[in-house]
Amino acid sequence: MSDETSDFPPKTRASSSAKSQRIEEYASAFSEFPVLETRVLSVLRSLPAEVFADFAADSTFAMRLEDYQPGKGSKMFMPLPSSGCEVSRCVVLRKKLDRAPEDFALYIIAHELAHAFLRNGGWGEITDKEEAADALALSWGYPKAKLRWF
Ligand SMILES: [Zn+2]
Repeated sequence: MSDETSDFPPKTRASSSAKSQRIEEYASAFSEFPVLETRVLSVLRSLPAEVFADFAADSTFAMRLEDYQPGKGSKMFMPLPSSGCEVSRCVVLRKKLDRAPEDFALYIIAHELAHAFLRNGGWGEITDKEEAADALALSWGYPKAKLRWF
C-alpha cells in the first residue's frame, strides 16, 4: 500500500489525511517548542509508509517532551522518571533539540524513532541496538550527525 504524501491520487486521500492527523497529534507533544515540533513533523512525514503504519497501529507508541527538571512540576500525574512515559514504546525528546543544529536534531529524532520501531532491539544482522538505530535512521535519510551540544 502506497501512502506517499507527495502523491495524492483520490483513492488514498482519506488514509493520507488520517496519517497527517496522526502525525500532527504525535508532534503536538512538542508544541511549546515550535522548531522542535517542525523537526518532528518533518521526520515523521518522511518515514517509510510501513514504519509509520506500525507506529499508528500501536496504542503503546507515543512521543513525549523530556520533562524531568526538578522544581518545574510535572504536567502529568505519573511519578515515574523519564517524563510521563506510561506506555511501552515511547520516544522522549529533549527540549534542547529545539535549538540544536538541524542535521543533529533530525538525526536524533530519527534515531529515537528507529529504536521505537525496532523495539529497542537489533536490525537484521546488527545486534547492537545503537548501531541498529543508526543504520535504520540512515536508511530513512538521516545520517549520524556529530554530537554538538554547542
Ligand atoms: Zn540510541
